[in-house]
Amino acid sequence: MAGTTLFVEVLTPDKTHFSGFVKAVYFPGENGYLGVLPGHAPLLTRLGVGTITCIEEDGDVVHMFCSGGFAEVMGRDVSILASVAEREGDIDEERAEKAKQRAEKRLFSGSAEVDYARAMSALQRAMERLHIAHPQ
Ligand code: ATP
Repeated sequence: MAGTTLFVEVLTPDKTHFSGFVKAVYFPGENGYLGVLPGHAPLLTRLGVGTITCIEEDGDVVHMFCSGGFAEVMGRDVSILASVAEREGDIDEERAEKAKQRAEKRLFSGSAEVDYARAMSALQRAMERLHIAHPQ
């Protein structure tokens, strides 16, 4: 029988951003968001850009930004090995706002010199960070 919790770790090469038991975890896979509850089938996926949400045992909710990497679900263990991650309190809003403005300036420049895909990705990261720091 499946247990009632999962053990989730969110790691980047330099830091453990989250480690603990949760009732559920949501994260962006490469083809959209995935929700994992206890008893989930084994899974290995690339991570997209977005928000990791952990519902802790006491009902507290922890949000983290992530961009790139992999996630693995194996039994009750969920390992999220992100290329980049920040907990909501670690997000520098001013930096994200500046990154958003830079990306928008590039996207609206009409210049042939601009790498539009790169600017779109930068805008997506900045907007996701701002959304986590200031959810509506
Ligand atoms: P910027 O243009 O401001 O560097 P970016 O989206 O290009 O933003 P990333 O490549 O995603 O930055 O991340 C590079 C490093 O900087 C990572 O360690 C990431 O955690 C950190 N970082 C980037 N933006 C922020 C932010 N707004 N708040 C906190 N850390 C950030």
